[in-house]
Order: sequence, then C-alpha cells, then structure tokens
Amino acid sequence: MYTLSNYRFENWARNVRSKPHTYFLPDNTDDVQAIVKRAIAEGRKVRVVGAGHSWSAVAATDDFMVSLDKLNSIAHADKETLQVTVQGGIRLKHLHRLLYQMGLAMQNIGSISEQSIAGAISTGTHGTGLDFGILASQVVALKLVNGVGELVELKAGDADFNAAAVSLGCMGIITEVTLQCMDLYHVEEVATPVLFEDMTSNLLTWAKGAQHPKVWWFPHTKHAMLYSYTKVSDGIRDTFAKQYIDDGVVSKLLFRGFLSMGHISHGFRPLVNRVIGTIFLKKISRVNLNYKVLNVPMPPRHREAEYAFPLDKAPEVLNRLHTLINTQKLKMNFVLEVRFTKADEFLLSACNGQDSCYIGFYYAGEKNWNSYLKLFEEIAMEYSARPHLGKEFTVDAAYLHTVMPGIKQFNALRQTYDPHGVFENGFTQQLF
Ligand SMILES: Cc1cc2nc3c(=O)[nH]c(=O)nc-3n(C[C@H](O)[C@H](O)[C@H](O)COP(=O)(O)OP(=O)(O)OC[C@H]3O[C@@H](n4cnc5c(N)ncnc54)[C@H](O)[C@@H]3O)c2cc1C
Repeated sequence: MYTLSNYRFENWARNVRSKPHTYFLPDNTDDVQAIVKRAIAEGRKVRVVGAGHSWSAVAATDDFMVSLDKLNSIAHADKETLQVTVQGGIRLKHLHRLLYQMGLAMQNIGSISEQSIAGAISTGTHGTGLDFGILASQVVALKLVNGVGELVELKAGDADFNAAAVSLGCMGIITEVTLQCMDLYHVEEVATPVLFEDMTSNLLTWAKGAQHPKVWWFPHTKHAMLYSYTKVSDGIRDTFAKQYIDDGVVSKLLFRGFLSMGHISHGFRPLVNRVIGTIFLKKISRVNLNYKVLNVPMPPRHREAEYAFPLDKAPEVLNRLHTLINTQKLKMNFVLEVRFTKADEFLLSACNGQDSCYIGFYYAGEKNWNSYLKLFEEIAMEYSARPHLGKEFTVDAAYLHTVMPGIKQFNALRQTYDPHGVFENGFTQQLF
C-alpha cells in the first residue's frame, strides 16, 4: 500500500485545505481494515476522501486520510437483475463508460460525474426529477469497514442501511456499492427560455409533468431557462461541432471570460449577466447518451450552497430570492439552479420524508460571498429548508436537529459503528 507523509489536501473549489498526517492509498479491503486498526492503536482519526468535490469541510483531516482511488473497478455485474457491484473509489465518469460497454446506465445522475461513487452517495448527491430519489436510492447493497476495522455488509431494507448509504464517512469506509442499473438509454434535452414570472407561476405543474426538470436563472435577467430531460428510444441527435461550441467555446471561454470581467468591476455584473443571458437564452433540443446530456461541462471554480425546500414553497421562495437580489442589489455572477427530488428515508438526506425542491445559490469569487450566503440562509431557515451537506452552509447543529428528523437516530447508530470516534473530524464534531 502506498503512503505519503507530506500530502496536502485541497478540495475542488479551493475553499478547504488540510495537511493530513499520513495519506493512504490502499490496494484492497485488507489494507483498509489495517488502516482503521492502526488509527485506533495510535489514537488517530481517519477520514476517507473521494474526489474532493465537496464544498464543505466534510472530507478534511489533519490525521489519517484514505483515498480509494486504487479501488476503482467493477467487481461484479448481473445481466439478469441489472445490478452492478463497483468498488467505492470508482469515479462516476469512469463508471458511465464501463456501464455503456455493458449496455447499462445509472437511473439518474447529477450535473457532473467527477465524483467517486462512495463520495457521491455519502453526501446525498442528487440529480433532478420528482420520480427519482437521490443517487443513494440506486444503491441496493454496500460493504463498509466500520470503526473497529470489521467488514460489514448491508442490504437495502436492513435496519442500518438508511444510515449507512448517506453517512458522510462517519459509519465506516465504503469499499463496495451495488447499484440497481437499467438498460442504456438516451435522453432528449429541450431548453426553453421563459419569463421569470411565468416560470414561478407554472413551476410546480411543469416540474410534476417533466421527467428530469431543471431551471437556470441568471440573476439580473428577465428570463429563466427551463430544461426538460426525457428518456427517449431514438438515437443520437447531437453533433460533435455543437458539443464543442456549447461546451468548449460558450461554457469555457465565453462564460469564464465574462466572469472575469465581472471580477474586475462589481458594477459590471448585472450587465455581464444580461450579455451571458442573451447568449445562453436560446431554444435547444438534442438527444444523446444519458450521461452526456444530464451532465453539464465542468463549470469555472465557484462557491455553492444548496438547500432542499418543501416542494410547495418553491415558487414563493424563488420570488423572495428575486426580490432579495434586486432590492439589495446583490451582484450575483452565477446561475441560480432549481431541481427536484423525490422523498426518501435516508436518515441524513435533505429529502427525508418530503418531496423537495433544491435551490442552488452559486457565486464566483470571495468578495461578498459570506454576506450573500447569510442572506440566502435567512430565507432558507424561514422555510425550515435543509442544507446539502456536501455544500456550504453556516446553520448550526441546533437548527439541523430541528429540521432533519433522522439526525438523532443517525448519531446514535454512528456511535455503535464507530465507538472510538475514529471517523470524526472537526466538521462532523460540529454537526453532531
Ligand atoms: C462542479 C460540481 C458539481 C456538483 N454537482 C452536484 C449535483 O449535481 N448534485 C449534487 O447533489 N451535488 C453536486 N456536487 C457535490 C458533490 O456531488 C458532492 O459533494 C459529493 O459528495 C462529492 O463526491 P466526492 O467523491 O468528491 O467526495 P468527497 O467530497 O471527497 O467526500 C464527500 C464525503 O464522502 C465521504 N466519502 C468519500 N469516499 C467514501 C467512502 N469510500 N466511504 C465512506 N465515505 C466516503 C467523505 O468522507 C466525505 O464525508 C457537485 C460538486 C461540484 C464540485
């Protein structure tokens, strides 16, 4: 097993850094068990890191950091049940290509696929669609190394499964995940610009009727983009040239360029957004493989908070945010994103017990971020909204205990799986 003593951890957004005492790259499950036992013997803590794509300090540690980057393959595929067992460190983008070769696909995915499978399920990562749960809902079984170094297998329906599948690395190190996949499918994307007021007044009817609905609104513009993604049986209707222009030229060059202009002068931001809006606000229709359409190109580095709101409150909240941004003259420089997720029973999930509308509040740069985040959270708290634990939030444990019905039970179970507190870090200590 490879180890490093001078590793420096930095997350994707570069807002979280730590200096692990030792960084481990285990070759197999025995190595993972040995790391946990060594940590207990030496009185150290262990954090497992995936792709480091969380904005919260959930993966950071100055003690032992474990990466499953070498445990990144498919362990077993059952062509009858369409269930595929993968090692915990596999990156979603790698998994999509392997599934494609077997004629399979994940049922739903988020905006990007840089994450590891275990990292993605552990924070409750979600895509969009009221008939679809968070990514952890696709998990039918998992194996983890608990806080005394034992390998434990849990299946959906087992008593502790709903704690372990979304567990922020606190119940153990997930070494294997079995996913319920489906036959490979194509997705049609239709994007339509509509007036902001029309979007909010028809939001719920539209979201309930669409398979994978998503809204992007560039603050300071009058229009929002409604994206509707639907599984279709016909083949690819997308060109390489179009993908290149949309992903490479428009997203990478133009968007980044305009963002930099906004950085030079804050006063430019509303104008810059209107220019970007004019470029992006056009009707789009294309068909491609599920992951090529549901994923977006990697965005420029930015800050993110995202809260799950009770579904029926979504239009009201969006109108409040619209008013907030305009009356307080917030110089927002990124889209506001709206997505939808079905209720579930995972103890730490933001959608526990309720269909939810996720509203993502994004911002590029440092200036103003903390004060803007606070304003967003003041509104979120009025609606008892629950934060995405892999993104930024400043609400305290008392608030989380009020709005997340499963957190107390999770905390009790966590202590049985991890009696020495070996998987704790500063973030989890604050949370629990
Ligand atoms: C550009 C971008 C776009 C994003 N889009 C979405 C989106 O569409 N939807 C959404 O919901 N989120 C989204 N996210 C957030 C992201 O999906 C989550 O933060 C996710 O948890 C990151 O996965 P990771 O592999 O990087 O895990 P990390 O950030 O490295 O770790 C996250 C947590 O998982 C734990 N963990 C990692 N591996 C294991 C393991 N083997 N066993 C047990 N615990 C483990 C870690 O300890 C930590 O607690 C996005 C993030 C970025 C940067």
